[in-house]
Amino acid sequence: MEDIKDLARRRLLTGAAALGAGALIPGCGNSSPVGSAQAAAPGGPQGRYQAEIAIVGAGLAGLSAARQLVAAGRKVLVVEARDRVGGRTLNRAVTAPGAQPGTVVEVGGQWVGPTQDRVLAMIQELGLSTFKTFNTGKLVDFRGGRRSEYAGRIPPGAFLGAVEAQVAIMRLNSMAADVPLDKPWTAPKAAEWDSETFQSWIDGNLFSDNGRALLQLAIESVFSAQPRDLSLLGVLFYIRSAGSLENLINTEGGAQDSRIVGGSQRIALGMAEALGSDRILLNAPVLRIEHGDQGVTLRGDGFEVKAQRAIVAIPPTLAGRIRYAPALDGLRDQLTQRLPMGTVIKVQCVYPKPFWREAGLNGQATSDVGPVKLTFDNSPPDGHIGVMMGFIEGSDGRAVLRQTPEQRRQGTIESFVRYFGEQARNPLQYIEQNWASEEWTRGCYAGIFPPGVWLDYGEALRAPIGRLHWAGTETAELWNGYFDGAIRSGERAATEVVAARA
Ligand SMILES: Cc1cc2nc3c(=O)[nH]c(=O)nc-3n(C[C@H](O)[C@H](O)[C@H](O)COP(=O)(O)OP(=O)(O)OC[C@H]3O[C@@H](n4cnc5c(N)ncnc54)[C@H](O)[C@@H]3O)c2cc1C
Repeated sequence: MEDIKDLARRRLLTGAAALGAGALIPGCGNSSPVGSAQAAAPGGPQGRYQAEIAIVGAGLAGLSAARQLVAAGRKVLVVEARDRVGGRTLNRAVTAPGAQPGTVVEVGGQWVGPTQDRVLAMIQELGLSTFKTFNTGKLVDFRGGRRSEYAGRIPPGAFLGAVEAQVAIMRLNSMAADVPLDKPWTAPKAAEWDSETFQSWIDGNLFSDNGRALLQLAIESVFSAQPRDLSLLGVLFYIRSAGSLENLINTEGGAQDSRIVGGSQRIALGMAEALGSDRILLNAPVLRIEHGDQGVTLRGDGFEVKAQRAIVAIPPTLAGRIRYAPALDGLRDQLTQRLPMGTVIKVQCVYPKPFWREAGLNGQATSDVGPVKLTFDNSPPDGHIGVMMGFIEGSDGRAVLRQTPEQRRQGTIESFVRYFGEQARNPLQYIEQNWASEEWTRGCYAGIFPPGVWLDYGEALRAPIGRLHWAGTETAELWNGYFDGAIRSGERAATEVVAARA
């Protein structure tokens, strides 16, 4: 009979659906169960476990913290709510006729780019490889009811607006240079910038409709939120964190430069495999954390994990849904009440081939009409089938949360037909991922900063509380919101733990 540990290991590697048992078999491996440990029960682990460092969340942040701590000789246990690792990275099988076995698309984060040095190094360490995002051919722009194709950076008819947007981008880059990454609230104009939304900045600084629309779309696509949701200081911090606004929005040479062969979830799967299934407890939502001078205890339904310290590697708003005993101080608690997640539904249609390439198009469209306002060619590296991907973001994402998946499918197809013609009408497969409705994520791409949060609560974002440490991409200084930031945050928290006295 197949051993539960083998099953668990296979599940870690495939990210497959729940098998109805906790992944860590009590009694095996590095993190030893204590006392009343018993066979894993349906739905999650049962019993008592012990480690030196307990880590909440098996996303890139939690796994990279664990990786670094294991390298430092520490005994770790990663406690993950879902039945898989990877968090906001997730591969989905393409099952359409003609798709080669093993073909996947990413329904969560997918791209990496220059200057994202930590994730690029991790990809190399794990023996993975990248390929360039398909970027050959003209772009499509749909604006004011008219579709046009163009080469270069400026959509036809939007010349003045594009120039105005470009000037605004240069101004924003230069303002961002004044925002210290470790303490954005100490920027000379922090109070002024954190008192206004990005929308009010656009309203006061851009005057052409096209200029405003281009900058708005850029911001929506970076934050999956509306400019009215975002603090100007928060946007400037994010720009500085990535190096420039161009780094955030560009395909070639920017954050959308490359993808990972086999899908981005392979980063998390690779890290998990190296850690071993006995260091990862799946199906184990942490509901309560008790903490004090003697150590920490993580509790979920039917299990507990005792450790000297814990790293909570989940988005702040989810960290705020855990119950702490004693309760956390008001600054930290109120911070977690104020960092909502963005809203995005990622939609993909599979076709027999990437037909838009034959028409000289690179598959990238921008639009002023939803639900999909931004598309990319998401075909596998050899292009043996075509995958068109779109984002439904911000307000559009919120609007379609009221729809059924079938209505969203229809809206997506209408958008793709509008940009790429009738050949987009009948996809072989429709794939959508609605991150807002995922219990253990609750929105994407990341937590966003409304006005006033950096200023009044910023110092509570990373500061450890006793034996509790905070990680997750939202806590990163560099490439905040991205894979790279997630890995950096996990490594920073691991360094904190190693430096702390037991
Ligand atoms: C559609 C989409 C597109 C994106 N595009 C990109 C991109 O192209 N490039 C890029 O770099 N980034 C992208 N991102 C962002 C990127 O995916 C994230 O920044 C990164 O994956 C976050 O990693 P993390 O470890 O900080 O958090 P998460 O991945 O959210 O990991 C947290 C983990 O904790 C678990 N958890 C939550 N609560 C509990 C609990 N109470 N108990 C136990 N476990 C818990 C969750 O299940 C999850 O596994 C995108 C995200 C999305 C959704």
